[in-house]
Amino acid sequence: MSSLVENTAILQKYTNLPQNGRVIAEYLWIDAEYNIRSKGKTLSKKVTSLDDLPEWNFDGSSTGQAPGHNSDVYLRPVAYYPDPFRRGDNIIVLAECWNSDGTPNKFNHRHAAEKLMTAHAKEQTWFGLEQEYTLFDNLDNVYAWPKGGFPAPQGPYYCGVGTGKVVARDVIEAHYRACLYAGINISGINAEVMPSQWEYQVGPCEGISMGDELWVSRYLLHRVAEEFAVKISFHPKPLKGDWNGAGCHTNVSTANMRKEGGMKYIDEAIEKLAKRHNEHITLYGADNDQRLTGRHETASVNTFMSGVANRGASIRIPRSVAKEGYGYFEDRRPASNIDPYLVTGIMVETICGSISD
Ligand code: ADP
Ligand code: MN
Ligand code: MN
Ligand code: MN
Ligand code: MN
Repeated sequence: MSSLVENTAILQKYTNLPQNGRVIAEYLWIDAEYNIRSKGKTLSKKVTSLDDLPEWNFDGSSTGQAPGHNSDVYLRPVAYYPDPFRRGDNIIVLAECWNSDGTPNKFNHRHAAEKLMTAHAKEQTWFGLEQEYTLFDNLDNVYAWPKGGFPAPQGPYYCGVGTGKVVARDVIEAHYRACLYAGINISGINAEVMPSQWEYQVGPCEGISMGDELWVSRYLLHRVAEEFAVKISFHPKPLKGDWNGAGCHTNVSTANMRKEGGMKYIDEAIEKLAKRHNEHITLYGADNDQRLTGRHETASVNTFMSGVANRGASIRIPRSVAKEGYGYFEDRRPASNIDPYLVTGIMVETICGSISD
C-alpha cells in the first residue's frame, strides 16, 4: 500500500491548483461510538456566516445512527473553522445530527448541552480541557515501544526532552500548528508520564464552544496522525500495569469564582459535585473504572474527595487559586474518551441548576 507519507510531495501539485471560486467544506459529525466521521461538500462561494452553510445529510445506517429503512440523518452546521489541510477559503464544518422527524439524534449530546449553556449564559462558565492521548503504530503496538517488550519504567518521560524520552514530536508539533491555524484556542502541549502519551490543553472556552473546539481539535489530531501513519487512541487505560492512564481533566470556573472571594463559590460547587458523584461518573467516559484506581494520580472511582494541590483527589484546587482565594477548580475524573458535551453539560447543570430550576 502506498502511503500518504510517501505521496505528500505529489499531492502538493494538486492542492496548489486554483479552485475557480469554489470552496470545499468538510462536514464533521460524531457517530454512535464517539468516533468522528466527515465528508466533503463543494460550495459555490466563500462562507462568511453560519447561514451560508446548507443543511446536509448522510446514511445513518452505515454509522449505527439510524435504521436501514429510515436511514437519513441530517447534518445541521453549528460552527466552522479554517481548514489547515486544504487552506485558502476551504473550511471545516462542525454539524449536529438530527433525525428526519425533527428530533435530535440519540448521539447528539450537543443539543441538550447548548440548552443548559444558554439558560445559564449569565454565569459565564469557562472550561479548560486537558486532552491526553496515546500513539500507536499501524500494527497496533504502542508507538516506538520495543517490539515484544517494554520501555524503562515511568519517570523520565513527562515533559521529557531528548531521544529515548519522547517520540513523535513532529506529529505533536504539526497538530499544534494545525489547531492554531484553525483558530482553536489550544493553550499548550506536553509529553505525558507514559512514553508515547501526550497532552494538549484547549481553553479557557466559554459554554458550548468548549465541546465544539475539543471535537475539532480531535479531528485535526486524527488527520495529522493519518499523514504520519500513526494511530491516536483515546482509551483511558490503553496499557494495563504500571502505566498511567489517559484523562481529560476538566477545569471549570464561573464569573463568580473568578472574582475576589470566589473560593466561596468554588467550595459550593464542590459540595454539589460530591452529591452527584455517581451521576457524573456515568458520563465521564467508557472504561474509566480501569483508570480511576486510586493509583497513577487518580482517586478511586468509588470515592469523591477534593483537595488543594492533590493529584490523587477527584477535584483539585490549584495551589495558586487557594492562595489568591479565587479562580477555578479541576475535575480530574473525566477520561480521555469523554464526549465533552456530556461533561460540560452536567457540570453546568450541577453547579448552576437544571433548566427548570
Ligand atoms: P495541570 O497542572 O493540571 O496539568 P494544565 O496547565 O495542563 O494543568 O491545564 C490547565 C487548564 O486550565 C488549561 O486548559 C487552562 O485553559 C484552564 N484554565 C485556566 N484558567 C481557567 C479558568 N479560570 N477557568 C477554567 N479553566 C481555566
Ligand atoms: Mn442545537
Ligand atoms: Mn495538564
Ligand atoms: Mn496530564
Ligand atoms: Mn490536570
